[in-house]
Amino acid sequence: MQGTILHGPGDVRFEELPDPKILKPTDAIIQIKATCVCGSDLWSYRGVDTVTQPTPMGHEYCGIVQEVGSEVKSIRPGQFVIGSFFASDNTCIICKQGYQSSCINREPVVGAQASYLRVPLADGTLVPTPGYPSQELIPSLLTLSDVMGTGWFAADAANVKPNSTVVVVGDGAVGLCAVIAAKQMGADRIVIMSQNPNRQKVALELGATDVITERGAVGVSHAKELLNGIGADSVLECVGTLEAMMQAVQIARPGGYVGFVGVPHGIELNGLELFFSQIHLHGGPAPVRRYLPMLIDLVWNGKINPGKVFDMQLPLYQVAEAYKAMSERRAIKVLLTP
Ligand SMILES: [Zn+2]
Ligand SMILES: [Zn+2]
Repeated sequence: MQGTILHGPGDVRFEELPDPKILKPTDAIIQIKATCVCGSDLWSYRGVDTVTQPTPMGHEYCGIVQEVGSEVKSIRPGQFVIGSFFASDNTCIICKQGYQSSCINREPVVGAQASYLRVPLADGTLVPTPGYPSQELIPSLLTLSDVMGTGWFAADAANVKPNSTVVVVGDGAVGLCAVIAAKQMGADRIVIMSQNPNRQKVALELGATDVITERGAVGVSHAKELLNGIGADSVLECVGTLEAMMQAVQIARPGGYVGFVGVPHGIELNGLELFFSQIHLHGGPAPVRRYLPMLIDLVWNGKINPGKVFDMQLPLYQVAEAYKAMSERRAIKVLLTP
């Protein structure tokens, strides 16, 4: 088969690779129908995270089950399935609490930007759709593998409630999905912090009510000004930089919540500032598996359309161009089809 390998900063290649095989009796092999580049792939693509050896890329996927191991019981060949970037058994004590991304048996899923993918712990990880999806549904279903599940977790972790006020920090695919989640949860005011006119437009289409273009201290005071002078009930941090995290912490009102889902790079918090902010902090790698059945249902019934975050589509063999376009911020997110 062919798949995507990162050889070093800026050096992504689509190349011939061995077909994935069942390695453990709980594995499944799926034929990829759609995959994409994640904002988190860009950390290593840009050389912020060091790449020491050729690395198979991609962790967002949906497709058709080809083969299952001898101990797989509920997943069957022919099903259209979606799974998270962390494989989980969905049966251990942590999974039962809804934190499948910290499953005691978790395994990362890697190499999804390829024609075929091995998914460990298939029964716990993969969720089948009610039937074979129409072509228009596939982009939205693909987002459930990561960005929509992560955006939902940001809103859930930040305790978004009907009539609450929400600020979303970050206008990438996760930030935009966080807007969708906040709207579904009934937020009254959804403010997106974005400097990019195209992304502002998408955010407003998806349910944002206000846009703040400033960052840093000016952005914080603008947000507070908009929200009764005291700040937001819920702030959804979807970037992972120090600047974004500080904005989130400072915009949340006393007693408010920050849900943080951007993978942290260089974030250190000041204890005294945190102490006096009196906020709730909850975040981490999203337990996407917890939300999959509910989100599949919302997409299947046309209630949400997170596929809108894809503003470019390329054949999988042009994956290098997909990385380039996202790294140069010419595209929000690129859909790749084998
Ligand atoms: Zn991702
Ligand atoms: Zn588990």
